This record gives sequence, structure tokens and C-alpha cells, in this order.
Amino acid sequence: MKRLKKLFDRSKTIKSRMILKSIFAGFFVMYAVSCSNEEFAESESEVQDTSIQDTAISVKTITAGEIYKIKGVQSDKYLEVSAYSHQNGANIQIWSDNNAASQQWEVLSVGDGIFRFKNVESGKCLDVERYSTENGGNIHQWEYRGTTNQQWTLVDDGSGIYGIINVNSGKGLDVENRSSTDGANVQQWNYYGTTNQSWVFEEVDDNVSTGSGTPMEAFDEFNPDSVTISFDGDDITIESTGLPNHTSPYWEDTNPLYIEPVVATRLTPGRIGGDRSYVLTVSAEPEIAASSTATGLGPIGISVSGVPIFNDQEGNNRPIEEMIVETFDYAGAHNGPSGYHYHVESSDVPENTVLSNNDEKLVGIMADGFLLYGRKCNSVGDYPTDLDASGGHISSTQHGDHEFYHYHIINEIYIGSSIVLFGQDYQGTPSSLM
Ligand SMILES: [Zn+2]
Ligand SMILES: [Zn+2]
Repeated sequence: MKRLKKLFDRSKTIKSRMILKSIFAGFFVMYAVSCSNEEFAESESEVQDTSIQDTAISVKTITAGEIYKIKGVQSDKYLEVSAYSHQNGANIQIWSDNNAASQQWEVLSVGDGIFRFKNVESGKCLDVERYSTENGGNIHQWEYRGTTNQQWTLVDDGSGIYGIINVNSGKGLDVENRSSTDGANVQQWNYYGTTNQSWVFEEVDDNVSTGSGTPMEAFDEFNPDSVTISFDGDDITIESTGLPNHTSPYWEDTNPLYIEPVVATRLTPGRIGGDRSYVLTVSAEPEIAASSTATGLGPIGISVSGVPIFNDQEGNNRPIEEMIVETFDYAGAHNGPSGYHYHVESSDVPENTVLSNNDEKLVGIMADGFLLYGRKCNSVGDYPTDLDASGGHISSTQHGDHEFYHYHIINEIYIGSSIVLFGQDYQGTPSSLM
């Protein structure tokens, strides 16, 4: 347990280091990046913007290719596309922080210290309407065409606060009437460096797609008689004998945990036991992969009891059918050539005292490193309604306050009254589990 505690503390340190990284003092460095769907060749070389380097004392580094939220200094509100619009001509305004992609901007270099700002939600770029060079010219979004009314330079006062100057007009990005209200318009105006023309860039964490790492206190829930958790660098290794800490008719009848079947109407051959070892090593900060991966036959996760989790198939392309359901004990498990394993959610019977049934309990960890919880989520106290195709979402759980990506048992009957534990694809990258 001491080891787990240490890991948890360490994960907090990693988090603060990631924040510190973005306040790194140094001169202004741009990394050229290529932007998809654009014919505009962007410089491949690293460029230093000397105009800023010369005056900078301690400058917050802005890296082209990274995604930022851009906050108005006066209003404390964020530059965003109105109403999450994807349309050319949709207005740009300020709004309270809502973590929406319409408040996130990819800063892209077009060379020579010039940038464009591409909205993460719409893919459109920050643009001065009708090439205006007048004070009060409106700012909206438009598909990037490489014109100078879509290109911007940054003026830095040395403290990480920037003016954003349009290349075509030479005017600064400005909140109209110095307003601080949600929905206040953004325009261009002669640049004076006033607070309604001053902006702070907040880097959006790379891990935002999965939240932060796996909460270590979740591992306290694993059956210590069968499961050993260890930590090596940034990885977690879960090793299990596969022996459950609950009763089953699949135990040898001499075992104290043996019971007569209460749910199963017939048993598969073989009994719990044997000298097995299931080993899974996953990242402590697993990430969603670019594409999902189908699960295979055999173990696809390790449950809190130590028993391996199988998918919704019994043999190649043979989905669980009634004849197989008959062999499941109340734990949703049966025995196979590779040992005792779970396929479906446990039954609500008095004998069931430890396993998740229609609740928010931790079920186990999948081979891609994401935790699997019961059908309900602690963050809402009910069935979550925002699950992706794999039953996953980002929220907090009973394991600490921080939000991270995890799966739930999907609240749908598979066959009869059985609910499959995990019949979908992995959203992360599975590690080997045998
Ligand atoms: Zn099976
Ligand atoms: Zn949840």
C-alpha cells in the first residue's frame, strides 16, 4: 500500500510539472507544422522571432502547433466562436470558460513570426471581416485562404501577456466597448496595449482527451489474495492468479468457497484452480488511440476479484447464446480451457456480496489500461448518458475528485437477462494479457 501511495503522490507531481512546462521562461520559439487540408507550405525549420527575443525578459513560450485557450486580460473571458458555429462568417466574441472546443485555438505558424489561429471546434480561422483596415472592423471566422486579414503577429510585454495584431490592418484584437460580459463582441482597433487588447495564452493539456491519469486509490479495490499491483516508471503491472474471493459452484467441492449452483443450470467442465498467472502492464496515464481495437478471445481485462474478464464471445465468432448463459454462475462466470472467467454482470442474489450489480462499483481494468465500472457512475449517481460506443466517458468517480476516461458496463440486455461486461472495442491501445 505504501508503494501505491507513493505512486499517487507522484502522479500529482507529474501534473504540476506539466503545468509548469507551459510557463517555461525562454525566448520565443516557433515549431513549423504542417496543417492538413492546406496547400500552404509552412517552413520546416525552427525560427526565432528576434523582435520578441530582444525585449523579452521572461516570456511564456508559445509553441506553434499547440492548442491554446486565449483569455482577455480585462474580462477574464475567453475568445470563442459564437454558438459553436462551423459556418464561415460566424462571429467571434468572449465568453466565460466552458472548456468547449469553440474556445480552443490551434496556433499555426505561417513563417516569419506570423501566425494564424484555427478554431478547434470549427476548423475555421480568426479573420478580419471584409479585409477591413478600419477601427471597429469586425472579427469573425472564415476558412483559411492564406490572406493577410487571416494572419496575425504577437506583441509581448515580457510578462506573458500578448497583443494580437492583424497583418493586413496593423490593428489589434480588441473587446468592443471594453466590455466584460458574456457575448461581448471582438473587433480590431488601433493597438494601445490596453487590457481589453491584452490576451493570455493558456495551453490546453495534451491529455485533455482522456483527462488525467488513472487514480491509484482504485487499486485498493483489488483482491489482495490474488492480485499484486506494482509500479515501474510510468507503468502499472497487474498480476493475478485468477482465483476469485467469492463463492462459486466452479470451486472443487472440498473448497470452503464451494456452493451449490444458485443461477447456473449446468456447469462447463473443469474447476477453479490450476497454477495460472495473468499479467498486464499498462500506462498509468493511458490515452485514447486514433482508432479503436477489437477485443479478442481470452482475457481482455482483470477484474477486482482477480478473475479475468472475457468479451461477449465463446469461441471464434460465436456470440454468447442461451446454452452458454445456462453455465454462468451468479458471478457471470464459467470455466473454460483457459480457466475460470467472467463474461456477464453478476446476478442480484443474496450469495452475491462483493461483485458489481447495477451499481457504480469498480469492475476491473481493461487491457488498454482504462478502468471498467458498473452500470452507474458516481459522478451522476445514475446511469451515465454520455457514453461513447465502448461505454466510455470522462468524469470523476468515487476514486478521487479528478476526471479521467473510464468505461462502464453498458446498461443493455445482451441475451435473456444477461448484461455483457465488455462487448465493445478498446478505445485505447491494448497491452498483451495472457
Ligand atoms: Zn467463456
Ligand atoms: Zn463514469
